[in-house]
Amino acid sequence: MDNSHKVVIIGSGPAGLTAAIYAARANLAPLVIEGEPSSTSDQPGGQLMLTTEVENFPGFPDGILGPELMDRMRQQAIRFGATLRTDRVTRVDFSERPFRVWIGDEELRSDAVIIATGAQSLMLGLESEQRLLGHGLSTCATCDGFFFRNHEIAVVGGGDSAAEEALFLTKFASKVILIHRRRELRASKILQDRVFANPKIEILWDHVVVDLLGDTKLEGAVVRDVVTGEEQKLAVSGLFVAIGHRPNTDLFKGVLDMDDAGYLLTSHGTRTNVEGVFACGDVQDHVYRQAVTAAGSGCMAAIDAERWLEAMAHAAR
Ligand code: NAP
Repeated sequence: MDNSHKVVIIGSGPAGLTAAIYAARANLAPLVIEGEPSSTSDQPGGQLMLTTEVENFPGFPDGILGPELMDRMRQQAIRFGATLRTDRVTRVDFSERPFRVWIGDEELRSDAVIIATGAQSLMLGLESEQRLLGHGLSTCATCDGFFFRNHEIAVVGGGDSAAEEALFLTKFASKVILIHRRRELRASKILQDRVFANPKIEILWDHVVVDLLGDTKLEGAVVRDVVTGEEQKLAVSGLFVAIGHRPNTDLFKGVLDMDDAGYLLTSHGTRTNVEGVFACGDVQDHVYRQAVTAAGSGCMAAIDAERWLEAMAHAAR
């Protein structure tokens, strides 16, 4: 494979794939390094691979499954000439042009780079999480909800994600306990109303999870009342963590400007502090975090990259 590219796109969620569609249609033959399926942080297709029904992406009045939406974006990018590689970027050097991007020992060069590495689920930070992730502990109701048919399970969090997960899981579970550390949900009003109206959801206010029980399989969770300090055991066989996200920017520490939470800083559209390196989607957006806004900023990144490349070529003439 040729190692020199006009545009390398890192990440393949709605931002990366929309950037790929636009860059491909601008004849830039983009290479998309889409991540690795085994990884939680750079899953090809991004977070929508872990979602259920997407009801708010324009053009799908009846909703569409997250993985199906991503597959369609993928096909669309390939149709216009994008190349997709299921690999993980391990290192970058943006100190001179062409920029350098490594996949293990393999070095790629690119005139412009678009970063669309997204964000990942936050975890509770319990030691038992490592042991039980995938064995009753999950961050993905779509992927794992089916396994909990007629079980009593719990969801942690009070935002839109927790509310959505809890509602979705009532399709399978006999009871869903929503564990929240305060007495008020952060989720939007419409989701709160649905949660309160659902007879299968019980809310455990003012509680945090302090331990998970079970050696090879989740058998329960220990929760603590943050007001009284009292602890109790919940006999749940599934626990879904939905407490927010962290941007996937470890690769760019010390290379690109980021905020305190690690989100890449962009200005004038999608420009980072390194000329020729652009960022789009959740990796630089902690406010909107929607598939449609990620896709929109992917489009902007491709247009910004295309115009910048053109200006560079013009200046070199
Ligand atoms: P979020 O809005 O940041 O909510 C995280 C929730 O988890 C909060 O309720 C927070 O509690 C709780 N939490 C955080 N750390 C915790 C910990 N260590 N232990 C226990 N609880 C903890 O995250 P999100 O729900 O993933 O949503 C992220 C963004 O995506 C939001 O802007 C949301 O509107 C958007 N979103 C939208 C939709 C939709 O429109 N359909 C769906 C999903 C997400 P506190 O409330 O006390 O801080």
